[in-house]
Amino acid sequence: MAKAIALLSGGLDSTLAVKMMLEQNIDVSALNFITPFCTCTKKGCKNHAKKLTDMFGIELKIIRLKNEYIDLVKNPLYGYGKNMNPCIDCRIFMFSRAREYMYEIGASFVFTGEVLGERPMSQRREAMRIIEKESGLNGRLLRPLCATFLEPTIPEIEGIVDRSRLLAITGRSRKPQISLAKEKGINDYPCPAGGCRLTDPHFAKRLKEAFEHGEDSVNEIILLRHGRHFRLSSGAKVVVGRNEGENKVLSSIAAHGNILLLETKDYVGPITLLYKYKDVEDIQVAANLCLTYSDYRGKKAVEVKIGDDSNILAMPLSAQQIEALHIRK
Ligand code: SF4
Repeated sequence: MAKAIALLSGGLDSTLAVKMMLEQNIDVSALNFITPFCTCTKKGCKNHAKKLTDMFGIELKIIRLKNEYIDLVKNPLYGYGKNMNPCIDCRIFMFSRAREYMYEIGASFVFTGEVLGERPMSQRREAMRIIEKESGLNGRLLRPLCATFLEPTIPEIEGIVDRSRLLAITGRSRKPQISLAKEKGINDYPCPAGGCRLTDPHFAKRLKEAFEHGEDSVNEIILLRHGRHFRLSSGAKVVVGRNEGENKVLSSIAAHGNILLLETKDYVGPITLLYKYKDVEDIQVAANLCLTYSDYRGKKAVEVKIGDDSNILAMPLSAQQIEALHIRK
C-alpha cells in the first residue's frame, strides 16, 4: 500500500483531503504544525488533529516550530500578506519539513487540503507552483480538492492515485466543502480557517513594534497576546493585565525571565510586568500604570508592590500620559 503524508491543520479542507486519500486506499500519516502564532495551541487544533487521526485510525506527528519559524516571520523572502503573515515562506517551510518526513518514513507524496483561489496569498496558482518547487516537492505535492485544475502529480501519473476521483474546487466559497463533508459523514470541524494570529491586524501591529525593538523570543511573542502594552522612552516595555485570566498568564511569564512583577498593595488591581528596564524611572512609570488600571480613585500617591519585598509610591496617569505610551492594539 502506498504511503502519503497529510498536512492536517484540523480544519475542514485537510480533513476532507485525508478522507479522500483513505478512500483511495492510501496509507496516510498526518503532520500537524504548531507555531507560536497559532490561535489554538492547547485545546484547539492540536487536540482536534488528534481526534481526527484517532477517528481515521492514522498516525499523527506534531511538530512545534519555535525560533527558526520566528526568524522566517521576521524576514520572509516572499513578503507579507495583508498583515504580518508570510504565507508563501511559511508554506515552503512547512512543506520542506513534510518532504523530510516523507523520505524518513518512505512515503511517496505529500498532500494538503489547499483549494485554488481560497486564500489570496498562498493559494494563487503561481504561489502554489513556487511553494511546490521551493519546498523540493516537485511533482510530489498533491492537492486533492482542486487537483484537476493543476498538472497531474507523480502519484497520479504512476497510478497510485486515481485522478478521476480527485476534485475541482476553487474559490473562497466553503459551500462545496460543506456539502462534501455532509456526503462523507464528517460533522465535526471546529477550526474552519485562519487559526493564525499573523493575519490579525491588531496582533500584527504589536508584533511589528516588538520586532522593531528586538523582541522576538517565544516568551515575548506569547506575551503579545495578553494585556495592554506600553513602550517607555528608554525602550522598556510594560504589560498590564486586563482580567484575572491575563493576570495569571502574566504572573507565570514573570517567573521565567528577567522581568519585574508589580501589583497594587491595598487596592484591587492588575498584574503588571516591566521588562528591559533601565532605571528607577522605568519602574516608576510601570508602577503608575499599574495603579492607573486599579480600583484606586484617589489623588494621593499610594504604594505599589515591586516583586516580593519592595514598594514604590505611585500616582495614576492622565489619559494623555497613557496615550503617549500605549502601543495600540
Ligand atoms: S495564515 Fe499563518 S499559518 Fe497559514 S500560511 Fe499564512 S502564515 Fe502560515
